[in-house]
Amino acid sequence: MSTKDNVIALVDCDSFFVCCEQKMNPELKGKPVSVISNKNGCVISRSREAKQMGIRMGEPLFMAKKEHPKGIYVVANHNLYSEISHQVMNLLRDFSPTVDVYSIDEAFVEFTGLSKLYKMDYIRLAKYLRQKIKDELDISVSIGISSSKTLAKLASDKAKNVYGGVYYINPELALEEMKKTSIEEIWGIGRNLTRLLHSSGVITAYELVTKSDEWLDKKIGIHGKEMKHELLGETISKVTNQVKLPKSIQNTKALGEFTSDINYIKNELNKHIHRSCSKLRRIGAKSNTIGVMLRTKDFKVYFTKTILDKPTCYEWEVSDAAFNLLGQIYNPKLLYRSTGIILENITYDSGEQLFLFSDEKQDNKNQKLAACIDKLEIKFGKDIVKTGFTQK
Ligand SMILES: [Mg+2]
Repeated sequence: MSTKDNVIALVDCDSFFVCCEQKMNPELKGKPVSVISNKNGCVISRSREAKQMGIRMGEPLFMAKKEHPKGIYVVANHNLYSEISHQVMNLLRDFSPTVDVYSIDEAFVEFTGLSKLYKMDYIRLAKYLRQKIKDELDISVSIGISSSKTLAKLASDKAKNVYGGVYYINPELALEEMKKTSIEEIWGIGRNLTRLLHSSGVITAYELVTKSDEWLDKKIGIHGKEMKHELLGETISKVTNQVKLPKSIQNTKALGEFTSDINYIKNELNKHIHRSCSKLRRIGAKSNTIGVMLRTKDFKVYFTKTILDKPTCYEWEVSDAAFNLLGQIYNPKLLYRSTGIILENITYDSGEQLFLFSDEKQDNKNQKLAACIDKLEIKFGKDIVKTGFTQK
C-alpha cells in the first residue's frame, strides 16, 4: 500500500474564539463580533461580519472602536476557549482512534479505514463529522482531507472558502493543485522562507515540488525535502495521539498586600492550586510532585516540595499537601509579598487503577466534583467556585 492511500483530515475551527463567545451568548450570532486580547488589547479573532466590516486582525481596540463603532468587542476568556477546545477534541477522539491535537482549535484526525467503519466515502464522512460538531457543540469547523498533513492543512485553508466547509485534495492530482497554490499558502513556509524562495524564482508550490531533493536540501535543509514529498501526497509526518506535556505548571502572584496572615496566604495559594489543577485536567494530565513558594517582603524566597503517593489533578488533594508544606516554611513573624505553587512530574491521566489501595469510589467522586467545578466556571467565570475547597 502506498502512503498515498492514507487519509488524513485537518479539522480547524472557524474564528474559534468568536465562535465560542457566540455559543455561550447566541445573541452574538450573525453580528460583527471581535474578540480582544486581555493582554495587549488587540483584535485576536473576528466573525465573518466583523471581517466584512473591515476590522483588521491585530488592530488595537481603541482604533477599531473609532473606525467601526458598530462593531461588538468582547474581552477574551481563555478558560472558556480551552474548555470548549477540550470538548471538540474529545468528540474527535470518539470519532477516530488517532487524533493529533495541533493547536487550541486544530487537530489532525486519522481517517484511514474509517470509511469502511462508517460506511461512507471520505468526503461524506468529513461532512458528517462537521455536522456532528455543529449539532453537538455548536462550533463550526472547516475540514481539509488528503494523504499528508501538509496537504490536509492546505485543503483546510481552501475549505474555508468553499460552500460546505470541506475540501479534498486528491493526492493523484496534487500536482495540478500545486499550480494553483502560491508558496506562502503552504504550512511551514513563513515570511523569511518565502523571500528566500522568491529570490530563487520559486513562486508557486508547483515550482517548489518540481525542484530536486538536492536543491531543496541545500536551500532549505531536510525540512524542504520533506515538505516537497508531503506536497506530492506522501505521508512523511504521521498522525499520532501523543501530546507534548509541559515539564511543570507554575502559578505565582503577588499577594494584595504585605501580610503574615496565614489564612489569607492559604486562600491565595488555593487560587493558584485551582488554576494549576484545572490546567492539568484540561490537558488530561496529573502530577505527583508539589512545591510551595513563599517570598518575603524583602525578597527572600522559601521553597519546599514533596512527592505524593499517587498523582492527582484535584484541588483538594493538592491543597492538603500544599498546606503541609506551607506550614514547614511559614514563619508568623515575617511579612510576605507573594506565594505560589509548582506542579512537576506531569504524566498522562491513564484512568487506570494502578494503586493497590486506591479507592475507586473516591476516585469517581473526585472526578465528578472536578467536572462540576470546571462546568460552573465556564458558565459563571473564573474562580467562581474557589471557596468550595478553600474553607476547611
Ligand atoms: Mg481556526
